Amino acid sequence: MYKRKNFSGIDLFRLAAAFLVVAIHTSPLTTFSETGDFILTRVLARLAVPFFFMTSGFFLISRYARDTDRLEHFFKKTGVIYVGAILLYAPVNLYSGYFQQSLLVPNLLKDILFNSTFYHLWYLPAAMTGAALAWYLVRKYDWKRALATAFLLYGIGLFGDSYYGIIRPIPGISAFYAHLFQLFDHTRNGLFFAPIFFLMGGLAADHPHRLSVKVSLAGLGISLAGMTLEGLILHRLAFQRHDSMYLFLLPCMYFLFQFLLAFQGKSLAWLRPLSQWIYILHPLGIITVRLAARLLHLQTVLVGNSLIHFLAVGILSFTVSLIPAWLQIHFQKKRADKKKAGTDRAWLEIDLKHLTHNARILQKLLPDSCQLMAVLKANAYGHGDFAIAVCLEQAGIKNFAVATIDEGIRLRHYGIRNDILILGYTDVGRAWELKKYDLTQTLIDGEYTYALNLQGIPIKAHLKIDTGMHRLGFDWNDMDGIRSVFSMKYIHVQGIYSHLSCADSLDPSDVTFTRTQIRHFYQVTEGLEAVGIPLPKLHIQSSYGLLNAPDLHCDYVRAGIALYGVPSLPGLSTVLHPDLRPVLTLKARIILIRQVDKGAQIGYGRCFTAERESRIAIVPVGYGDGYPRNLSCGRGKVWVKGQLLPVAGRICMDQLAVDVTDAPEVAVGDVVTLIDGHFHGSAADGAPCAPSVAASSGSITNELLCRMGSRLPVIIR
Ligand SMILES: *Cc1c(COP(=O)(O)O)cnc(C)c1O
Repeated sequence: MYKRKNFSGIDLFRLAAAFLVVAIHTSPLTTFSETGDFILTRVLARLAVPFFFMTSGFFLISRYARDTDRLEHFFKKTGVIYVGAILLYAPVNLYSGYFQQSLLVPNLLKDILFNSTFYHLWYLPAAMTGAALAWYLVRKYDWKRALATAFLLYGIGLFGDSYYGIIRPIPGISAFYAHLFQLFDHTRNGLFFAPIFFLMGGLAADHPHRLSVKVSLAGLGISLAGMTLEGLILHRLAFQRHDSMYLFLLPCMYFLFQFLLAFQGKSLAWLRPLSQWIYILHPLGIITVRLAARLLHLQTVLVGNSLIHFLAVGILSFTVSLIPAWLQIHFQKKRADKKKAGTDRAWLEIDLKHLTHNARILQKLLPDSCQLMAVLKANAYGHGDFAIAVCLEQAGIKNFAVATIDEGIRLRHYGIRNDILILGYTDVGRAWELKKYDLTQTLIDGEYTYALNLQGIPIKAHLKIDTGMHRLGFDWNDMDGIRSVFSMKYIHVQGIYSHLSCADSLDPSDVTFTRTQIRHFYQVTEGLEAVGIPLPKLHIQSSYGLLNAPDLHCDYVRAGIALYGVPSLPGLSTVLHPDLRPVLTLKARIILIRQVDKGAQIGYGRCFTAERESRIAIVPVGYGDGYPRNLSCGRGKVWVKGQLLPVAGRICMDQLAVDVTDAPEVAVGDVVTLIDGHFHGSAADGAPCAPSVAASSGSITNELLCRMGSRLPVIIR
């Protein structure tokens, strides 16, 4: 969905689909068998257009979206192609007298919106309408309802298409369809036909579960047989007004797509524009072949034999399409090269496999009744909240926590449907937004809760207990205050929680303090039970709470830093030490190397003086990107080509210098690793893994990481 792989199966079938469309318009088997041709062109070849819709849906339609860039790009591109194709075929329209029809303007409008001005071009407006509808449905509803709606539309379409014979004799309904057919010639259009396939494509992308090749092939075989039978029967019954839409087309497409998705690997990107151009240009191929046949007196062979006719048109269209396809690829490649896909300056690499690994490992540590609540505050600890939230929701994590209401709203805009708990303060004036976005608010004390209740808006809430940290929450002693919340009309308490202030420490006095906090918490819950208040969900542990006090039986564990796979500090010992893996890597590219004389001073404040002739590499990343200024003057070390080299001079907002004198092979364009999410070395040998970088800068990984990412592009691995 946000990560592009090479789907060679899909790319290959694009070409096959383009030839199926050529077959539809040339009927290759008529010379030999009418029925055979019907099966090929009116049944089997009907896979082609839904396949194109599904493929577009696969890359475009998702429940999750950070922005609408891709959709806009799709509309722009399809629109441009459509206008171009209309103009391309306008001379043919002119020749055939299209522009002489009465009511030209309303008909032209209808054609542009639905039928298209030239028969096969209907695909282009249908793709735009279908994409828009599918997008709207899935963003507005969940997958089930979106699919149900699209299926309903498809059903309406069916009765205007292959199943027309059923409704024709029913007066009211056939009148309804008569109205529809004043608007468009067919129901196989962007309203009734396309949306379901766009959605099926999007669903395949959003739900990474795949059928095996065997199962999908078997399913495809059975569905194709079913569709052939369906087509033949409807044809025999003379039910068909048109023959694009079948019931069995849906399972056919599902299994076909599952089958094609199994083949990944080599990029066959050049097939994409090629198949598109064959689709657009093949009617010109038909016209040319017929013209050539007439001029060369070869009609009997070139037109009379349907198979030779098909082959001639196919080969001609293929060959001619190579030119615009090549131009398009050439043009696109240039653009892609220019961008270097976000790795031209400095960037974050996010390893989602490590993230799901960590989530799985942490969930395994919990008792069965306890669920991981993933903490996504501060832009998911600097990792970029979009990719992290989507990945975790897809991995089956059901509960998220953020610090502020705006972080929660952002997640909702991305399409996240999980429960979202706001751990911090929300102004009571924004209660309506809590309701609107279905966010759960933390009750930070009695006065706040009273004011929130006064808003008269039903609010889902978790009640926070202060058990000794003295930050947020009702005092654990304040049983009256705590109890009163449960009788407030607009406050729906769905959870009670507390936060531990020194769970990361195994120092005996800290452990005792933690145990006291936990005891206070359970005193509160017992106090509530004693007066007959049913307990909502309970949670106390954050990452270190889980790692150091794993024996608690709560409903949730609020995991932040552990989920991102790094300890807060290097060498922090814990009771449990699961195999967690860092998710984030910070890299940048050397943009300049300069030779300086002995005695030259580098950077602000002249803090670094070269003690010898030196080579200094300038790296375009600084504290403006989150790399701590505290690491100036050699405190920070970075990896370049397998060597650990010191930061020279003061770190600026947007640049820093690295002394590469001892690494003569280092050159402009080389990649520098500033925070290493791999396992090049442990903290002990000074490798810049997040904990040691954090420690060198006098902080903890939590702070180091959450400062990343405001300016850095996020590259997903
Ligand atoms: C940030 C936060 C967490 C997550 O803490 P980690 O140590 O990163 O796991 C849990 N609970 C509350 C209340 C928090 O503010």
